[in-house]
Amino acid sequence: MSLAGASSEPQGIAAETAGCADTPILRERGQREVFCGLTGIIWLHRKIQDAFFLVVGSRTCAHLLQSAAGVMIFAEPRFATAIIEERDLAGLADANEELDRVVTRLIQRRPDIRMLFLVGSCPSEVIKLDLSRAAQRLSERLLPSVRVLSYSGSGIETTFTEGEDACLAALVPEMPTEPGTARSLLVVGALAEVVEDQFIRLFAALGVGPVRFLPSRRASELPAVGEGTRFLLAQPFLAGTARALEARGARHIPAAFPLGEEGTTAWLRAAAEVWGVSEERFAQATAPGRERARAALANHRKTLDGKSIFFFPDSQLEVPLARFLSRELGMQPIEIGTPYLHRQHLAHELALLPAAAKLVEGQHVDRQLDRCREARPDMTVCGLGLANPLEAEGLTTKWSIELVFSPIQGYDQAGDLAGLFARPLVRREKLMV
Ligand code: SF4
Repeated sequence: MSLAGASSEPQGIAAETAGCADTPILRERGQREVFCGLTGIIWLHRKIQDAFFLVVGSRTCAHLLQSAAGVMIFAEPRFATAIIEERDLAGLADANEELDRVVTRLIQRRPDIRMLFLVGSCPSEVIKLDLSRAAQRLSERLLPSVRVLSYSGSGIETTFTEGEDACLAALVPEMPTEPGTARSLLVVGALAEVVEDQFIRLFAALGVGPVRFLPSRRASELPAVGEGTRFLLAQPFLAGTARALEARGARHIPAAFPLGEEGTTAWLRAAAEVWGVSEERFAQATAPGRERARAALANHRKTLDGKSIFFFPDSQLEVPLARFLSRELGMQPIEIGTPYLHRQHLAHELALLPAAAKLVEGQHVDRQLDRCREARPDMTVCGLGLANPLEAEGLTTKWSIELVFSPIQGYDQAGDLAGLFARPLVRREKLMV
């Protein structure tokens, strides 16, 4: 070991009806075209500033991280790959001993690390390296200065955004217990700091609080959780984290996701209702933000109104995005593909989707490509692997990964979010002149 995806399932197809909305859902299983959960390290390491992510994987994993996070060459990186060499794979070396040696060297070199995540990959899972036991063993040795946790980012188990879910779920047992039943709000999901600060101000104006965030900016300052904790999901891909929080006594506040003016208002309102905020105070606190969002969206509506859009399943943000683009910008979703559809967490979103949109859960990339080519949408949202070939066929594409990297939640980001969809259309129009 030295320091330095896609998978397929049996093909199948099934249709069912969503329990929370009467939207028919097409379920597909087949070849997938998605990044693995290691990708989440790119935004998580920026967010949790005293954590280090050590992928236990292959050179392929190291290349994925390096190319996805190329900008980090200017800073001291807080992620690396412990590369499993061929001799480890052949069982010739004790992989656990090797891992301990790599971690010891890393901690000696980087005394600023307070939390170390061992991140599992396809190779570590194939050789059945038990990273949770390794994390326990290393924690016993390194505590109190460094806590070691583990989660899986492997392409066998996770898609692109599930890495964040697995990471946050691993943090939940480490959160201190909140004594008593005093009410507090926990916002769950990695948000850009600028967005977090805006929400802090909005909740303060509403009188909702105390407000805490998971992940916190420092792993050594994890928020407390207990029976009085109510949590809002800021991202739709956090089912495992939500389950772990519920097991600690916290209660989910069901809501639409804070994308666009409507989504942000609905999300804030859900918390305001739990806190018994008056309608007058709610209107007063949210009116300036709503106004700014509406003005910013009006600029982009001219470009996006009436344009058709097709989502390949990738980030799990597809359903809230389709709701935002159709209701606030007049776009027409033809197909909304999503890797997983959590009916309970998406209930408020599903109820707002246009009836004509086809909902697809899972992936059978060839069938979806056929449908997309036939529909010839004005815009296609997809992963990096599909974007270039579709552009070559004359379709306008948007990389779904960009929507996870960019600050898009809240009133003041609504215009930027619309701009991410308007720009490729404006560019293509210019090229066609
Ligand atoms: S975890 Fe698996 S899918 Fe992801 S880069 Fe490594 S080998 Fe590829």
